[in-house]
Amino acid sequence: HSKITGKDRLTHYDAALNSARERQLLIESDIRDGLEREEFDVWYQPIVDARSQMMVGIEALARWPRRPDGELKPDEFIPIAETSGLIYSLGQFVLRRACSDLQPLEDLKLSVNISPAQFRDPEFENKVSGVLETCRFPAHRLQLEVTETYVLENPERARSAIDNLKALGTAVALDDFGTGYSSIGYLRRFNFDTIKIDKSLAGMVDDDEQASALVSGTIRIASALGMLVVAEGVENEKQVKLLKQAGCDQLQGYYFSKPMPLHDILQLRLQRLG
Ligand code: C2E
Ligand code: MG
Ligand code: MG
Ligand code: MG
Repeated sequence: HSKITGKDRLTHYDAALNSARERQLLIESDIRDGLEREEFDVWYQPIVDARSQMMVGIEALARWPRRPDGELKPDEFIPIAETSGLIYSLGQFVLRRACSDLQPLEDLKLSVNISPAQFRDPEFENKVSGVLETCRFPAHRLQLEVTETYVLENPERARSAIDNLKALGTAVALDDFGTGYSSIGYLRRFNFDTIKIDKSLAGMVDDDEQASALVSGTIRIASALGMLVVAEGVENEKQVKLLKQAGCDQLQGYYFSKPMPLHDILQLRLQRLG
């Protein structure tokens, strides 16, 4: 078979890069159109109290079911919305929709994901406050989830944004803990109300002693610091048992329920899940 020369390899690489870039631009303009045509939806996943296994909150998750070229997952469209700046409109849509959907369900807390780019917007806290007012949604029922990337990138602004949101009465959660590099000791300075242990860590408690020790340690420290601890990606009964033993406050994962449209979530409200 033939030898690939340096030049050919470069051409191959360029072609791959170009088509990835083209695909990104295509999706970017699809997102723009999709927002206009109201193709996006918000689905919800229950968060249960570890003891009672009753739903105490839900996480809002963006969905794009009506995309003409076929559905894309948030892991694919959110990063493109971020780099293109469309996350401002998309994020605002999700927040508004979720607050108005959940407004009547007085016993449920609502968690909404926020991208680093949204946090960078100096008007962000004002926009949140505007949505709360328009939807007549009580600030204390809302929690915003942020990942550590932003916090590490811009600790000054992160601190003031978190403080401003907390002044509104809104809670702030650190999402996906365990996927980054920072210690809980460092993150303590940011006054998070809640820490969510990522599924890549929490999902290992039942088959890896080191992961299990790491999870228990995290739960112990976070609880001692006054934070609420939520484990993500709970998929089986053994994980439930171990996470409860380790002192986890709340659990979320397919074991209890997958993300679903609002209507289906409402059916699960008054029963023990799992
Ligand atoms: P996330 O905030 O960490 O959300 C949890 C993700 O884990 C969701 O994926 C959920 O469907 C999935 N998940 C829940 N339980 C389990 C489980 O037991 N096993 C497994 N394997 N997965 C589980 P989804 O909905 O695909 O969202 C992926 C990510 O996209 C989210 O991760 C979040 O970072 C981002 N995202 C979703 N919606 C929004 C949004 O409205 N705004 C922003 N900024 N980001 C969003
Ligand atoms: Mg989240
Ligand atoms: Mg997460
Ligand atoms: Mg995640």
